[in-house]
Amino acid sequence: MVDHDLVVTFKAQLAMCGVKPGVLVAALTEGQTRQDYAQATLIATRELGGEAFHVNLPPRTAGAGKFTTGKTPLENNRPIVDTLKGVDLVMDFVGLLFSREQNEMLDSGVRILMVTEPLHVLKALSSSKDLRRRVEYAGELLTKARTLRFTSPYGTDVTYKLNQYPVLTEYGYTDTPGRWDHWGCGFVLTSGDDDGVDGKVVLAPGDITQVFQTYFTSPVTLTIEKGYVVDIAGDGVDANLMRGYMESFNDPRAYAVSHIGWGLNEKAKWHNLATTKNARSPAMHGHPERGVNSLSFYGNVLFSLGPNTEVGGNNDTACHIDLPMRNCSLWLDGETVVEAGRIVVDEMRAPGF
Ligand code: FE
Repeated sequence: MVDHDLVVTFKAQLAMCGVKPGVLVAALTEGQTRQDYAQATLIATRELGGEAFHVNLPPRTAGAGKFTTGKTPLENNRPIVDTLKGVDLVMDFVGLLFSREQNEMLDSGVRILMVTEPLHVLKALSSSKDLRRRVEYAGELLTKARTLRFTSPYGTDVTYKLNQYPVLTEYGYTDTPGRWDHWGCGFVLTSGDDDGVDGKVVLAPGDITQVFQTYFTSPVTLTIEKGYVVDIAGDGVDANLMRGYMESFNDPRAYAVSHIGWGLNEKAKWHNLATTKNARSPAMHGHPERGVNSLSFYGNVLFSLGPNTEVGGNNDTACHIDLPMRNCSLWLDGETVVEAGRIVVDEMRAPGF
């Protein structure tokens, strides 16, 4: 079922991504998921004068019960990867992030937009050039920085050395060859040097675990030495869930500290997860919320664990946990960027914030 609203929404987004006559777009799906988005892509691309086709892959069964990162139905599917390397824009309804296949496509100049959210979230977090400007400014600041430190009222105090990895911007659309983005996002990220993260992170009630799609209700204290979590302390369900989930991967590299950055999308809401993660709700059109609001809400410090292939590193563990945190303060080379969850650099501030 493809309704008018869906096509209109996709048309606006594809236009932001530079779709016009002469541009070739591929819609990539797996199983029966997001078939309506693929059809909307085909119709909207046509309306913009471009050409489009749809690749539907068989659904994954391996890794059920876990959110495995970087393992996609494209693994070992050489003909499809080669085909997708020939298009201008891949609309990714599968989730190729962290995969070698995605990096290979980007290296060949394809731009990729990942789409994971229900329609009402895609509409609410529609892209803007102003968000792009503010995220790109953040990217410049982070690129220049050699150290990043962040703290929280619960006792977080952790420092990253930043020399090794590039900075990625996410502002929700992409019209740049070889660039990836994620519809609805608005944040900036990089990774610390391989052995360059030390300190303590205390996840507090109200912080979010993306992989469980829940809010923390009890503090969890992570001790970090040379880029790895060496201890997970806490008596509550949250600490036990984290320990159990991470142990289930049987992979010491799951304990590496992954990307770090901060959220800049004033349209994204911290509370959204509380109301819209239930896919059975009529408003959801069968798509559960996958957490773009949580990753992007204005002033969050986005801490994470697991792989670093996203920034070109070697850790390709399938265990990735994004942990958006509230009320943190963050400094780059001693200059304040976020103060108790508020953005304090004028060039990055959203209108009215
Ligand atoms: Fe992440």
